[in-house]
Amino acid sequence: MMSSRKPANQSQELSFAVNLMEHLVVPTFVVDAACRVLIWNRACERLTGVMASEVVGTVDHWQAFYDEPRLCLADALAKGMTADLDRLYSYHTEPSEHGHGMKAENWCVMPKMGERLYLAIDAGPIYADDGQLVAVVETLRDMTDYKNAQMALQQQATMDGLTGLANRRSFDEKLHVEWSRSQRYGEPIALILADVDYFKRYNDCYGHQGGDECLKAVAGILRREVFRPTDMAARYGGEEFAIILPGTDLQGALTVAERLRADMERSALPHAASEVSPWVTLSIGVAAMVPDREALSATLVAKADRALYKAKGSGRNVVRAGGDEH
Ligand code: GH3
Ligand code: MG
Ligand code: MG
Repeated sequence: MMSSRKPANQSQELSFAVNLMEHLVVPTFVVDAACRVLIWNRACERLTGVMASEVVGTVDHWQAFYDEPRLCLADALAKGMTADLDRLYSYHTEPSEHGHGMKAENWCVMPKMGERLYLAIDAGPIYADDGQLVAVVETLRDMTDYKNAQMALQQQATMDGLTGLANRRSFDEKLHVEWSRSQRYGEPIALILADVDYFKRYNDCYGHQGGDECLKAVAGILRREVFRPTDMAARYGGEEFAIILPGTDLQGALTVAERLRADMERSALPHAASEVSPWVTLSIGVAAMVPDREALSATLVAKADRALYKAKGSGRNVVRAGGDEH
């Protein structure tokens, strides 16, 4: 029982506990209630490149992780400043979710190591018998490889493999989100559909691989012309591309479409088999709506599609706007 223990035993136990923590393979440090570092174990030295002698007794431990002063998770817990966590971490649990402790995740600069690490962080408070906070233990896990793999997977799932543009799936998701937003706020939303002219003949003339290179070049031009962060350029299918322009009316979308058409032509990618130009060209359909509550996003797509059909019928290498005919 605690009360029957002799002080000598207690201090032996304490030094055993400190020793244990020192050699624990999990990077761990401990701060007191004033956020001064009490313990900085070997694994933490290895992870951060910062030695215990540099930080123990100081409040400088943030320097091991970040290049400007800020709270570590243990400090936020010690100071009761958990309201700041949203700003400070890419992910964190709510203070009540995990007993009295907290979990968070973040990209850390790791100034001494010179490489960014994605760390999973646990912080657990230690209370005295009277309920006063005496220390917080912070343990760290290097999740960089896992995070990078996860981000690569996520990118693969949303990106078109050939062109690097958003794929059809992200196009559908974005259109859904922006369409709903436009309905809620009564704002316009525009869609541009661009189709490469005589592309079957391009493949016949330059080979399928040449066709692929051409699609990559077209994607590069789209990336150049679609630069507003709220807009999205996507590969809609085969040699057809789509641009979603939230908050944009028909006039605005026509301007973007004409700029894209002209840029494509100016880029002068040879297309010896085209009937409309010596260069690769685009036919472009544009539609814009302020959607009412019942309207479906498919209406906008159908309008842009009809406009594209009109552009093809008007001799190609032109921009046409979708009418209201059904
Ligand atoms: P139009 O001017 O009427 O658009 O004529 P088009 O030949 O471009 O139209 P069509 O839609 O008939 O042909 C599209 C061609 O694009 C057919 C298909 O083989 C080719 N294509 C689709 N996806 C790819 C791709 O990823 N790489 C290559 N190289 N070709 C593709
Ligand atoms: Mg086509
Ligand atoms: Mg085509």
